[in-house]
Order: sequence, then C-alpha cells, then structure tokens
Amino acid sequence: MFGKQIRLFRLAGFDVMLDLSWIFIALLVSWTLASGYFPEIYPGLAPLTYWSMGIVGAAGLFLSIILHELSHSLVARRFDIPIKGITLFIFGGVAHMEKEPPTARSELLMAIAGPIASLVLAVSFYLLASVARAAGLGEAITGVAGYLALINLVVAIFNMVPAFPLDGGRVYRAWLWGRLGDLNEATRRASSAGQTFGLILIALGVVSLFSGNLIGGLWWGLIGLFLHSASRASYAQLQAHVLLEAEPVSRIMTKNPVTAPGDISLRELVDNYVYGSFHECFPVMEDEKPVGVIGVADLRELDRTEWEKRRVFDTMRPLSRANVIGPEENAETALRAMREGGTSRLLVVKDGRLLGIVALRDIMRLMELKQSLG
Ligand SMILES: [Zn+2]
Repeated sequence: MFGKQIRLFRLAGFDVMLDLSWIFIALLVSWTLASGYFPEIYPGLAPLTYWSMGIVGAAGLFLSIILHELSHSLVARRFDIPIKGITLFIFGGVAHMEKEPPTARSELLMAIAGPIASLVLAVSFYLLASVARAAGLGEAITGVAGYLALINLVVAIFNMVPAFPLDGGRVYRAWLWGRLGDLNEATRRASSAGQTFGLILIALGVVSLFSGNLIGGLWWGLIGLFLHSASRASYAQLQAHVLLEAEPVSRIMTKNPVTAPGDISLRELVDNYVYGSFHECFPVMEDEKPVGVIGVADLRELDRTEWEKRRVFDTMRPLSRANVIGPEENAETALRAMREGGTSRLLVVKDGRLLGIVALRDIMRLMELKQSLG
C-alpha cells in the first residue's frame, strides 16, 4: 500500500513521514483549488493569487491531517500501543500501530479521536474566517480559511463512514468486537463493508468521468481504489497476525543448527563453515554454550586481509536481546524482534542452551503455506 517514504520531522515524539504519493496529491489539490474551486467562489482575482491560495490551502490541509493523525496517536499512546510514526498519503494519513488495540473500548476511543480533531479544526477555521472577514482582510485570506473549515468538516464526515480501515470503520469494528467478542470476525465484517464502499466510490467516479466531471471523477476513483485495497490489506494483516501469534518459535525453528567455535580464524570460518554448510549465519559456541552469533554480513564489512588475522570471537555479535528468543515465544514476537534488531535470524535459547535458529525466511514460508492451504 505504501511506496517510498521520506521523513519530515518529529512531533510529540512521533516521526512524521511523507509517502511520495502525497506529492502527487498535493499538486492535484493545489491545482484543483487554484483553477477550479477558488476562481468559482471568488471571481476576479489574479491567477497568481489563486495559485498562492491553492498552495497555502494544500499546506493547511496537510497540517490539518497531521493534527488529525496526531490525536489518534496520542490516544494510542495512552493505551500503551506503540506508534511507529505517522505517514501522510492520498486522502489522509495513517498512524502506524505496532499492534492491535487491546480492547474494543480503546479502539473506539482511538478511532474517534481523529474525527473529533478534524471537527475542532473545522470550527476553528470557520471562526478564523469570520474574524478575518470582520477585520476587512482580503478574500485571499478569508477564502483559504473558509476552505480549510470546509475541508476539515469533509475529512471528519468522510472518515466516519463505516468502512474499515477508515475511522468510522474502526468504530464499527469496535462495536462489532464488543458485541461478538471476536476480533477476527469483527474485522472480516468491517473490512467487507470497507471493500463494498470502495467499489461504490469507484462506480461513482466512473459515472462522474462519463458525465464530464473529470476532476471529481478522478478523486472518487482514487479514493475508492485506495479504500478497496486498504480494506483488503487490513484484513489480511490481521489474519497474518492471528496466524503468527498461534505459532510458537519452537515449531518453526531449525533444530540443531550448524555452530562455529569461537577460536578459529575468519578465513577458516569461510572455508569450512560458510562454504561447508551453505548457511549464512552461525551461533558461536564456547563450552557447548552459545556466546554470540556471526553471519556473512559481518564478514562483508571487513577487509579480506583481516580474515587471516581475526578470530570469530573478535568479530561475532555477543548474545543480546536483539538476537535471542525463547522457544515458547510466538512467531509474531520473533518477527517484531527481527524488525527492531535489523536482523533476519534469531538464536533460540533456553536456560543458556541453544535449541535452534529461526529465520525470517522460515516465517515467510510458513505464512505462504498457511495461506495457500486456506
Ligand atoms: Zn483518522
């Protein structure tokens, strides 16, 4: 769903990211405002004024959406749900939750926080426009404030449509969840409502296009497409989550992995272990106990002349929370640990004993198999 992203700044401890699709949207918004919306409502201004209004309007929309997402994130933080960052794209933003909300009530409060922020913004911009008008400020200023009041109202209303993963869909899911007591089923229903709504928007877009409303048609079509794919993706994500959570590490790990002693040279490691076993990563042992881990990636960073001089002990990464997991932990936890530690393999250790090694590739393979078997 997301393409390339750039980090803009930090706000209240959250990274604000920009998906590159938003640049296209920002241009489309500025253009729509400068060539259509403002000239129609405030005729007779200079083209440069319309373009300035369009760009300031798009920037205001951008800030409004950040505040909308920020309020979701602040409520999430109160419920101890880690938020990785906020990404802006297409018709809004996404606050990246690291896990599902713990209860239906927390989901409800989190979901409703965004539309409430948008409503507050709508009222604030409306008051600003009124004050500006009373103070005799020009149409350029009152016009932009008026537009921001309107668009925030639209964002609040649009997001309350019960189509998952829009905020209204989350409220709907929270309600179903509370009633059925089953998050999976609640998500399935809310997501299918979201997909249906996406299809309706696409159909509306096509009808608009054929009736000559190019810009409107394009907008509805884009939003519909986005919503349709986002609904499907969120359900798939939850299924993956349920699936991974049910799978203990001990079942997917490779048992009795090839290990390497610590006192051999890196050259010996390459010749006898890397080429001898075709593995990329080796637990390093001392007195039959794991003490560290060394991988092909660690060797790549070194000059080849170092391979003769250095021993495995000098180069390995010592055992730490970043590369060890317990056998009773689940695959979801393993995946998160890999993401956080920037690694693709974890040693499975219990009471100081090495039981196996679990690789990102194995987890992916497991998901593929489970999905292909339904
Ligand atoms: Zn929202």
